[in-house]
Amino acid sequence: MSKGTKIPGYMQGKGRNPRGIIGDREIRYKCSLQNTILDVLRGRPGWQEVPGQQSTGQPPSNTGKAGSGTTTTQGTTFGNKASDGDWDFYWCDREWLHQNYDTMFLYEHQKILHFRNHYELTRKNLMVKNLKRLKKQTEREQGKAEGLSFEFFPTTYELPSEYHIFVEEFKKNPGIIWIMKPAARAQGRGIFLFRRLKDITDWKKGEYQPLSDPNRDAPETYVVQRYIENPYLIGGRKFDVRVYVLVVSYNPLKVWLYRSGFARFSNTRFSLDSIEDTYVHLTNVAIQKNAPDYDPDKGCKWSTQQLRKYLSAKHGVDAVRKAYKGIDNIIIKSLQSVQKIIINDKHCFEMYGYDILFDSDLKPWLIEINASPSLTASGKEDYELKFGLLNDLLNVLDLENRLTGKEKRIGGWDLLWEDGPILADDGNMECVPNGNTTTIPNSFLGCHNDRKRQLRELYMAAQSVKKT
Ligand code: ADP
Repeated sequence: MSKGTKIPGYMQGKGRNPRGIIGDREIRYKCSLQNTILDVLRGRPGWQEVPGQQSTGQPPSNTGKAGSGTTTTQGTTFGNKASDGDWDFYWCDREWLHQNYDTMFLYEHQKILHFRNHYELTRKNLMVKNLKRLKKQTEREQGKAEGLSFEFFPTTYELPSEYHIFVEEFKKNPGIIWIMKPAARAQGRGIFLFRRLKDITDWKKGEYQPLSDPNRDAPETYVVQRYIENPYLIGGRKFDVRVYVLVVSYNPLKVWLYRSGFARFSNTRFSLDSIEDTYVHLTNVAIQKNAPDYDPDKGCKWSTQQLRKYLSAKHGVDAVRKAYKGIDNIIIKSLQSVQKIIINDKHCFEMYGYDILFDSDLKPWLIEINASPSLTASGKEDYELKFGLLNDLLNVLDLENRLTGKEKRIGGWDLLWEDGPILADDGNMECVPNGNTTTIPNSFLGCHNDRKRQLRELYMAAQSVKKT
């Protein structure tokens, strides 16, 4: 389903213009955030900021343009709502989209961040519910063996609704560690680990006991999840990997995977002796930066390139390739689990931040998926990564219409899936196992990211194709 589309007056009657569908004027953008994305948009040649209206969640003020209830420059009258035709690209926050999407009118060419119900994948309880459903369906239709390809998320239950099933499972596995996480919070807030049922029954009493106060909010939804007790350690420390994934369409499913990302390390050596120590067990930067011995200069990040090199040196290219194939599987299966549920809209796109944890067997586990991964840079290298990532995202969306639409790689983004797997044209020697390079998937997480050179060549090639 897509929102209604109309062609604005200034685009009607125009032939195809070399500047693209926008025509021969600048591309107008709005941005809710004050971080790297704003720098990227401001630095983009030919792009113009629509002033004001940042992140208020309110309809635009009376500027005499769309949304103010007056006649717009395109001669269309809008109601007093956010259906403005005065932007082409909007990096909005989720709250703004929730408040405005259902009453919003979008022109043919407009692009906006987030799908309407992105939370189906990004809320911890819903993600697991959707994955369990697709797993069951796969087992039913393709057999139990195929269902094994879903064994990448730890056993999880929603609380309070699945408390009794959880208790049964708990009793079957005495002594193991569980982790409790609020379903809709982020940055490690409200998370704790436990071994004894008593810990959770005490907590449950406080959280869920009906109180005499009728105004008390409904209890917060949590997930309780099997804790991965054997994480892969480097230098004795636990880490997880942030992977960036871009979805430009759910129907057909079209997915890009960014080569660069980072591993976030905990500051304190891993041990199961002190399960209450969040500095040991939670790898979120928001948690780690408060650790008493945290060194902001050293930080706690590695690039995905550093990580891949390290793992390849230790285990060999083939073993790493196999492990990273597991990450591709996680990405595709998780997106497929919501493919029929997400309100697909050709105006919408989403850049997800996947959190992946390797265990000591180098098996990747899905921890969670974020729809608003942090774009605030923690240092120079982090800034460069995010600046390139976001610029390349705009290159993929190609509002300037400079590409052919057939590209498999744009800057650091590799096309992983388009209604089916994409195969690589050429092997990237750093990341490819010995032997045949023609049947490998177009997936290069942690491989060399020479994005600037690649873009130069890409634009030259696209130009010559377009000329002919
Ligand atoms: P948040 O949205 O609050 O960041 P996460 O689910 O990402 O919550 O969990 C925070 C951190 O806790 C993760 O980055 C990871 O280090 C650790 N963690 C979460 N779930 C598990 C798990 N099942 N096993 C091991 N570590 C986990």
